Amino acid sequence: MADNDILNATPTGEDVQYEEQIRPQRLGEFPGQTPIKEKLAIAIEAAKGRREPLDHLLLSGPPGLGKTTLARALANEMGVDIKSTSGPVIERQADLSAILTNLEDYDILFIDEIHRLNHAVEETLYSAMEDFEIDIMLGKGPTARSMKIGLRPFTLIGATTRAGLLTPPLRARFGDTCRFDFYSAEELEVIVTRAARILGVSIEPDGAREIARRSRGTARIANRLLRRVRDFAQVKGDGVITYPMADGALNMLQIDALGLDEMDRRLLHTIMDKFSGGPVGLSSLAVAIGEEPQTLEEVHEPFLIQIGFMKRTAQGRVATPRAYGHFGLTAPSDQDTLF
Ligand code: ADP
Repeated sequence: MADNDILNATPTGEDVQYEEQIRPQRLGEFPGQTPIKEKLAIAIEAAKGRREPLDHLLLSGPPGLGKTTLARALANEMGVDIKSTSGPVIERQADLSAILTNLEDYDILFIDEIHRLNHAVEETLYSAMEDFEIDIMLGKGPTARSMKIGLRPFTLIGATTRAGLLTPPLRARFGDTCRFDFYSAEELEVIVTRAARILGVSIEPDGAREIARRSRGTARIANRLLRRVRDFAQVKGDGVITYPMADGALNMLQIDALGLDEMDRRLLHTIMDKFSGGPVGLSSLAVAIGEEPQTLEEVHEPFLIQIGFMKRTAQGRVATPRAYGHFGLTAPSDQDTLF
């Protein structure tokens, strides 16, 4: 994993294995997101009491906050199987029909990036969600006819980093939406300490706190940084993650005191230096930085907005006086009129 891949939203290879190893399996092992867990604990008990599947559920929020993990934990709590797929993977109606007709009673179908389903597939989902049935086409051309097929009662859990891109008819078919928040440093400390325990790594509270503070409010990043700090502590120290080990490793990875990495800094500096603080449109910004607009929007910006370093205005992205302050700079005076 290259240094600048700490934020990578799609884990690959070794990363996947690592994430699996430390993924909480039950709601009770899942630190943080308390309002969501409380709401779901009631929904689970009610659904079990009525012997019904859980209501269809939409999980939204930036990558790495635990949407997939929560969906799996819900399946474990309900004692059902979960089938996972993702919006762009389901290309044809027939692909979705095959998945749906293979579900057993009360199974969970998890569709990641559900905002990226194509229109025809999405339409098939409507009747599946609403009436547990789908229309399938038999034959081709003028003799083709459609036939209704009944499905087993199931729960659809959709996950999205862009809830705003969901079409109203799809959104309306979810019984509930859970918005994931960034984790507090205290919650991330619990997450890091838990992962270290599973991995058999010795970590001191100060070390865990430092990793937590610099993880951009994101569970996946906290876990990834833990792994990098573990390596550093093994090579430069005696393997114990102390504060100096955590600090040294994170400095080496060029992650600053707030958890900003090189790309975050480049993004903010580009707005401040090349575009006089903004406003600048997303596509111009992406070209100037040499990054995909979607990655900037979904991976980098949410945290920078959350900590008040940038704003999305109708005219474009703007760096705030707080961002200038972080880099020891003063915002241009005409910037005041934007806030
Ligand atoms: P998302 O689906 O939102 O992108 P994931 O559920 O795949 O995020 O989580 C990414 C990683 O972070 C996984 O390795 C998971 O173990 C870890 N993780 C997520 N949420 C938590 C949590 N609340 N506690 C501990 N680990 C978590």
